[in-house]
Amino acid sequence: RVRIFSGVQPTGHLTLGNYLGAMRRWVEEDQHRADALFCVVDLHALTVEHDPARVRRLTRQAATLLLAAGLDPARCTLFVQSQVHEHVRLSYLMECTASDGEMRRMVQFKEKAARAEARGGSVRLSLLTYPALMAADILAYGTHEVPVGADQAQHLELTRDLAVRFNQRYGATFVVPKATYPAVGARVMDLQEPTSKMGKSHAATAGTVYLLDEPEAVRKKVLRAVTDTAGEVVYEREERPGVANLLDVLAACAGGEPARLAEGYTSYGALKKDVAEAVVEVLRPVRKRHAELAADPGYVDGVLRAGAERARGLARPRVDAAYRAVGLSA
Ligand code: ATP
Ligand code: MG
Repeated sequence: RVRIFSGVQPTGHLTLGNYLGAMRRWVEEDQHRADALFCVVDLHALTVEHDPARVRRLTRQAATLLLAAGLDPARCTLFVQSQVHEHVRLSYLMECTASDGEMRRMVQFKEKAARAEARGGSVRLSLLTYPALMAADILAYGTHEVPVGADQAQHLELTRDLAVRFNQRYGATFVVPKATYPAVGARVMDLQEPTSKMGKSHAATAGTVYLLDEPEAVRKKVLRAVTDTAGEVVYEREERPGVANLLDVLAACAGGEPARLAEGYTSYGALKKDVAEAVVEVLRPVRKRHAELAADPGYVDGVLRAGAERARGLARPRVDAAYRAVGLSA
């Protein structure tokens, strides 16, 4: 059976980008057609400045939101990364397989390191080695497919390289996984800064739609989205990133094809109004279900406990085999 693995970091409140780029497919497709594991990757959240109480709160919130969005514990495995020690065990072997240079080439490292420095902070070593842990997350499970947003393409390529290299050096141990991306919504851009991707850990929030935003907040953010001065509604990602992003979001939320949708509009105002309503409708059931689940923390705890137990059982033999392959005893 096809094995799928993917994750989300508890670094902030989940966004429309997380939903359209990743979560929605986990819910609508992946859990139905494969043996799918989904993980709140809390160890990754420690690669940037963090507040312990907030990480704890956001970990629970992310798990609750994944269930609210429609992950079904009867169909998939949902767990928290730090509860399965195999990830860290294997991460070390990945650090011993990767080179310093290939880690430094990662765009996410460069961007997040620059952001940490701009805030006057230091760059955590774990931010550099992040892709080693991510490779371990994926490879520990014999994963075939990793459903992610387009921003993760480079990390997935590195994961594949590490799997191939490890297998060549030490014998066939890992499945070489491939990334899968959604047809639309693979890269949702910030509404205020449409040349950068929407991200949950960004400090400014006016350009970020959060899954738990009230309908009024969603409308306000979409109606204030940056467009351009040309006034025409056409789909040109390079020339008019703001308008193209709105068309992408509309296509992802209401169906259709972005360039074709553009033909139906003569003003930005009308486009924004439709985008806002489409987003509000997509988020409505998620918010409602989240409120119900948040009132039952015992249920969420139980799901995560069972998920971690299953994940441990799946990861353990392959990680043990990897330890033995490199000359350690396990
Ligand atoms: P952070 O700012 O902390 O990196 P993030 O919003 O990028 O947060 P992640 O937890 O890093 O979220 O990523 C979770 C999943 O969501 C990944 O599959 C990632 O590719 C996807 N994703 C993140 N942002 C977007 C976006 N703007 N558009 C589409 N997919 C996205
Ligand atoms: Mg990210």
